[in-house]
Amino acid sequence: MPCGVATLSARLPRAPLRAWATLSGADGDPGTVGAVERTLFDAEHEMFRDSVRSFIDKEVAPHTERWEKAGIVDRELFTRAGASGFLGMAVPEDLGGGGVEDFRYNVVIAEEVQRSGVNAAGLGWTLHNDICLPYFLTLTTPEQKERWLPGICSGELITAIAMTEPGIGSDLASMTTTAIRDGDDYVVNGSKTFITNGINADLVITAVKTDPSERHAGMSLLVLERGMEGFERGRNLEKVGMHSQDTAELFFTDVRVPVANRLGEEGSGFRSLVAKLPQERLSIAVTAVAQARQALDWTLEYVKERTAFGIPIGSFQNSRFRLAEMATEIEIAQTFTDRCVLALNEGRITAEEAAMAKWWCTELAKRVVDGCVQLHGGYGYMLEYPIARAYADVRITTIYGGTTEIMKEIIGRSLGV
Ligand SMILES: Cc1cc2nc3c(=O)[nH]c(=O)nc-3n(C[C@H](O)[C@H](O)[C@H](O)COP(=O)(O)OP(=O)(O)OC[C@H]3O[C@@H](n4cnc5c(N)ncnc54)[C@H](O)[C@@H]3O)c2cc1C
Repeated sequence: MPCGVATLSARLPRAPLRAWATLSGADGDPGTVGAVERTLFDAEHEMFRDSVRSFIDKEVAPHTERWEKAGIVDRELFTRAGASGFLGMAVPEDLGGGGVEDFRYNVVIAEEVQRSGVNAAGLGWTLHNDICLPYFLTLTTPEQKERWLPGICSGELITAIAMTEPGIGSDLASMTTTAIRDGDDYVVNGSKTFITNGINADLVITAVKTDPSERHAGMSLLVLERGMEGFERGRNLEKVGMHSQDTAELFFTDVRVPVANRLGEEGSGFRSLVAKLPQERLSIAVTAVAQARQALDWTLEYVKERTAFGIPIGSFQNSRFRLAEMATEIEIAQTFTDRCVLALNEGRITAEEAAMAKWWCTELAKRVVDGCVQLHGGYGYMLEYPIARAYADVRITTIYGGTTEIMKEIIGRSLGV
């Protein structure tokens, strides 16, 4: 299932370099957010950005209302993203990918998803690229790579990662889903919940206990595939926000999973998760900053137009101060996440840095979106305004991928306290 595209740059239409320093509210209309010039991207990324933006305008935005009502995106979102070169950018070309290991391309997608206000529809896409793909890229045997990576790049194989169970989330080592070796198979029993892409996924990286008598050392990662006997999907869960995103329960009853579907060594599951979680957390942080920036952009437009007491509401000193605070905090967060992205690219990001980025940026996004709702007045509570949807969507970001409290635990431990 090749993507049919040779290199990332060959896939991209030539377009002029955009200055990100003025993040626009609408094409050709330079917005006011973005006082600090960013040096993260080069011309290739900006060309990629233009292509992603056109793709979202054409293939995502027109469907989002329908997907929000359906509680799930069409699978075609993935195959179309794959055909356009927006999946598996880091996968070697001979396996159908873009052949470029550079997380800045993932950042561009996350930012464009937020810019277009299609947050929930974009989550499964970014989860597939930013969070699941690294496991398939680095923990797989050559045979597994051949089997899975081309489909992951083409979007025919949608991925998910299942760690959380009904009884445990933060305390992963207490998980109870077991995988007991029987010949060339593991027999898997248990359940997972809150799994992003849970309904659409074809390949689910599943954290299991291959040695239930151990905590961390007893964990392994198995890939469960759509159609395996005893692997059932539960409900597509109804959530406060993120409505286009399928978030599901998964049930396993005596599922026979070949040993050939194990990622890494038996007992190495926890170590693998710890190694990959910094990228997951940075991805959430990057999204959060873009989400805050977009909320502020929408709000700036609104407060210039809406009047009270005969003047635009943005002219009140309180409004200006609130907006100034938000703009400042966003720039500070952006500077830190950009630095973390470069550190990730160079393979030197630490768990603590990623935890700092995750908790700070998601708490910031929550604060900014809440402040923006306030500045919209009653309209901020109406779902026809994108800020209202952002308010519902942003709430989860301080919880999934590790809660703010767990992030502070990670950072606190590194301080020797
Ligand atoms: C929309 C959505 C999508 C999700 N997607 C996925 C997915 O794709 N894959 C997946 O595996 N999971 C997913 N999750 C699960 C998510 O990662 C967990 O909900 C999260 O890790 C928290 O776990 P929990 O819900 O069990 O809360 P708990 O662990 O029960 O925590 C409850 C509260 O206790 C606090 N707490 C727990 N331990 C400590 C401590 N040591 N110190 C201080 N406070 C603590 C927490 O911070 C939190 O405030 C998703 C969840 C949602 C809602």
